Amino acid sequence: MVIASKNPDKAKEIAAVMAEVGLIPIWGQDWPDVQETGVDLEANALLKAEAVMAATGLPTLADDTGLEVAAIGGAPGVRTARFAGPDATYDDNVSLLLERMAGIDDRRATFRTVVAAVFPGGRRVLAEGALEGTIALVRRGSGGFGYDPVFEVEGSTLAELGVAVKNTLSHRARAVRALAAKLSE
Ligand code: IMP
Repeated sequence: MVIASKNPDKAKEIAAVMAEVGLIPIWGQDWPDVQETGVDLEANALLKAEAVMAATGLPTLADDTGLEVAAIGGAPGVRTARFAGPDATYDDNVSLLLERMAGIDDRRATFRTVVAAVFPGGRRVLAEGALEGTIALVRRGSGGFGYDPVFEVEGSTLAELGVAVKNTLSHRARAVRALAAKLSE
């Protein structure tokens, strides 16, 4: 299946889990740009998967991820990628999150990923994975991407755990495994 993502950080994680569950990943950079205009993670994952399948004619898998922080009303939520503005970098987003969380004791957060698989015959399969954690006080660790340096699970940030361990427990890995289970049913 084609991985409909231009983000190499994500694609590497998805490819590793796909290989584990017997799906053969095809990945490149030459996919169409897709505006994430959907109202939720499901809609955005489907938008990305359908656009890339239309371009390649191949079965395609896409994910969409949101970070929900309870104490700030579930933000950044669907705005996770552009929390600090339309051209925000990973670092800008993390800085804004730490700023918004300054002085807040309740640091509970959830990563949620929806994975959509679409097939040329019209079949669509969706699956979800979630990871509960807390927002750290400062960035720690050098692995992963995005909010990984401040997303803490049992005392370590995802950036400290590194990609191999992240892939045993992450929201994205759980979603891809759940999708594979649905596909094999
Ligand atoms: P997207 O809309 O699925 O591309 O993801 C939105 C944003 O969430 C990305 O730009 C990253 O900043 C962040 N993100 C997605 N997945 C992860 C993850 O596994 N760890 C940390 N940040 C992530």
